[in-house]
Amino acid sequence: MTSFCRDATAFKDEVITGFAAAYGRYARRVPGAAGFVRRAGPHPGKVSLVVGGGSGHYPSYAGIVGTGLADACVMGDVFTSPSSEQVYRIGRAASGGAGVVLAFGNYAGDRLNFGAAAERLDAAGIETRIVYVTDDVASAPVDDIDLRRGIAGTLVVYKVGGSAADAGYALDDVARVMAAANDATATFGVAFGGCTLPGRDEPLFRVEPGMMELGLGIHGEPGVRTAEMVSGDELAGLLVDRVLADRNDRGRTSAGTRAAVLVNGLGATKYEELFVLYGGIDARLRAAGIEPVLPEVGEFVTSLDMAGCSLTVSWLDDELAELWAAPADTASFRRAVSHEATIAAVESLATDDGDTVVDEPASDVSVAQAEVVRSALRAMLTTLTDNERLLGDLDAVAGDGDHGLGMTRGARAACDAADSAAGGGVGTVLRAAGDAFGDRAGGTSGILWGILLSSLGESLGNTAAITGERLAAAAETAVGTLRRVGRAEVGDKTMLDAIVPFVEVLGAGAAAGDSVAAAWTSAADAAVAAAAETAGLRARVGRARPLAERSIGTPDPGATSFGLIATAIGSVIEEAVDESP
Ligand code: ADP
Ligand code: MG
Repeated sequence: MTSFCRDATAFKDEVITGFAAAYGRYARRVPGAAGFVRRAGPHPGKVSLVVGGGSGHYPSYAGIVGTGLADACVMGDVFTSPSSEQVYRIGRAASGGAGVVLAFGNYAGDRLNFGAAAERLDAAGIETRIVYVTDDVASAPVDDIDLRRGIAGTLVVYKVGGSAADAGYALDDVARVMAAANDATATFGVAFGGCTLPGRDEPLFRVEPGMMELGLGIHGEPGVRTAEMVSGDELAGLLVDRVLADRNDRGRTSAGTRAAVLVNGLGATKYEELFVLYGGIDARLRAAGIEPVLPEVGEFVTSLDMAGCSLTVSWLDDELAELWAAPADTASFRRAVSHEATIAAVESLATDDGDTVVDEPASDVSVAQAEVVRSALRAMLTTLTDNERLLGDLDAVAGDGDHGLGMTRGARAACDAADSAAGGGVGTVLRAAGDAFGDRAGGTSGILWGILLSSLGESLGNTAAITGERLAAAAETAVGTLRRVGRAEVGDKTMLDAIVPFVEVLGAGAAAGDSVAAAWTSAADAAVAAAAETAGLRARVGRARPLAERSIGTPDPGATSFGLIATAIGSVIEEAVDESP
C-alpha cells in the first residue's frame, strides 16, 4: 500500500518528476511525453532501444535507461500500457537515425499500442522493429509460447539488446539477438501477497497465511495455482525444477551450458531473503550442469508492493554471454567495465591462511583448571538458552530484541571453540572462547563479551594457577578494557551496572581471604541485585538510548544476562571445589 500517495491519477507524473530530479545524470525527460531518453542521447548512427510498459514496476523502466541498456523508456499509468501516441513521441525522441527497437512484455494493450506506434514511426521514416518478451512459463504451455506474458526475464532481453545496440549492431541484428535471448529465457515466480494500487486500501488479491501462489503475474494477477508455503531451500528446488522442465519441454538440453540467472524480488520480498533463496538455486543449477554467469539478485521488475519473487534462467551461447556481460551504467543497473578482469585478478591472488598463534606451553594445573573453565562456559550457554526468550523480550522493550539470540549464539560458538582448544591452558581456552564469541554473537554485547573473555584469558595465562586474588585482578583489568571500549559508565543502564559491583565484591572477598567459590557467589548475588536495580534507570548509551523513557521500569538486558551467567558459573566453581581433593 502506498503511504502518502493517495492520488492514483497523479502517480505516474509525480514519479516521473521525482525520477527526473534525482537521476538527471542518467536520463532526460522527453518534453511533452511520459518517458526518458539517455542523458546524452540519442546517439547519431546507433540503433536505439526503447523499452516500456505500465508504471509500478520500477526499476523497469526509467531505472534501466543509460549506457549499455535502454536508450529510452516510455511509461504508462500504473499497470497500464502507454498510449501509442506516447510510444511514438518517445520513439522519435530516441531515434539516432539507425533505427529503433521497441521492446516490451507481451500484453495485449502493449502489443496494440507499441504496434501502432511502430507503424507511425516507420511511416515517419524511422525504421522500427518490435520485440516482445514471453518469458513467463506459467502463463501458457510451450505450444502457445506466443501467449506467454513478459515478466522479469525482460531485463535479460533488454540488456542483450542494449549491449548489441551500443556495440554497433545493425537494426535487424539487434532485433535478432533480442529474439534469441527471449527464446532462451524462462521465468517462473511465486507470490506471497498481493499488491495495492496507489490510493487504494485493499490489495488486488490476497494470499492466505502459510500459502503461496505459483506462477505469479506482475500486474496484481494472482498465481495460476495455490500451494502451501515451503522452506527457502524447497522453494529454490521448486523454481529450478519448473524452469528446467520448460527447457526440457522445448526439447533442448540445459546441461553443460552457461546461463544468465536472475532472482527478482516483486517489491515486498527484500534482498536478504532473496539471497537465502539464491544459495539453493545456485547449488541446484550447478548440480544440473549449468554455470550461472554474472547472476543478479535484487529488484528488476517489481509489482508495486507485491510480496514474491521469481527465478529467470536465460541460456547463453557465446554471443549472448558477451552481450549479457557488457558494461552498463543506469540508475538501477550497473556493471563495471572490466568485471571479468576484476574477477580473474582477485582469483589469482594467493589466499593467505592467516596467523597461527603459538601459545606458551600450559602447566598441568592450568590445563586442569581449563576444564573447569569449559564447564563454566557450558553453564553459561545453558542459562542463556533457558532465558533466551526473556532476554529477547527485555531487549525488545527499548532495543531490537536480539539480546537473547545473540548471546546464545555467541556462547555456543565459545563452547565449541573452547572444546577445540581442549588440552590447552586457561589462557588458550578463554581466548579461543572470546574470539569465537565476538565473531559469532555480533551486536554490542557480542564484541563486549568477546573482549571480556579474551581479556580474562590474557590475564590468567597458561601457567600459574587461578587464585582468588589473580581472578579478581583479571576481572578488574577486563572491566577496565570494557569501559574504555564501550565508553559507558555506571548508571548508564548497561551491563556495566552489574559487572562493576560484581568485580568490587569479588575483589573484596579475595582481599578478605575468602575462597574463590565464596567470593564468586557473593559477587554474583551483587550482580543479580544490581541488574534488577537497573529497572529504575534510563538508558544513556547503546541502542536503547533513543527510547530511554520506554526503558524505565524494565531492567537492562545486558546487565540481566550478566547476573544470570555469573550465578550459573558460581555453581560450577562450587562443584569444582567440592570435587577437588
Ligand atoms: P545490540 O544493542 O547491538 O542489539 P545486544 O542487544 O546483544 O546488542 O546487547 C544490548 C546490551 O548491550 C545492553 O542491554 C547493554 O547492557 C549493553 N551495552 C550497550 N551499549 C553498551 C556500552 N557502551 N557499554 C557496555 N554495555 C553496553
Ligand atoms: Mg539488541
